Amino acid sequence: MNAPRPAVAPPVQHDPGQGRCCQNLRDLLAKHDIRLTRQREEIYQALAASRSHPTAEELLRAVRTSQPGISLATVYNTLETFTRAGLCRKVTPSGGGPCRYDADLSDHLHLVTSDGRVLDVPEDLGREVLSHLPDGLVRRIEERMGMRIRRVSIGFLADDAEAACPTPASAEDGSQTDR
Ligand SMILES: [Zn+2]
Repeated sequence: MNAPRPAVAPPVQHDPGQGRCCQNLRDLLAKHDIRLTRQREEIYQALAASRSHPTAEELLRAVRTSQPGISLATVYNTLETFTRAGLCRKVTPSGGGPCRYDADLSDHLHLVTSDGRVLDVPEDLGREVLSHLPDGLVRRIEERMGMRIRRVSIGFLADDAEAACPTPASAEDGSQTDR
């Protein structure tokens, strides 16, 4: 609730039956005067089916079997088109590495691992982080910097897996709460 101005793009069905997804995609693209081609549809479906925030190259590999002639440039351009149309989010890992894409438009935070993977922070924890932003802070940033903030994105950078997985020393019941 405190997350100021959450992403506004309408949700796209993620894993519904193909037909509905396709129709949603067609409608959303039509709003931006973008035609739904077979290539765009396949790129979108490969993106929406993935939870790993794939790069353009990974998506190219995913669609190349059914679209042998497709180029990396086409995949890039399509992803940029989708991003502009609000169909996906572009994730720029702050630790470097190639841009990644996310068809999950819900307000959620990312954790970037040292080997460049981008993981979704569990929704409840992400919400908790955003809810702890002090009241009025975003407004003060807007005022001081003279810009309107569209959405707040807070990212987490993880250490190496071995270093980053402390055994929950204080876990009284020994149960694992994280994955
Ligand atoms: Zn994500």
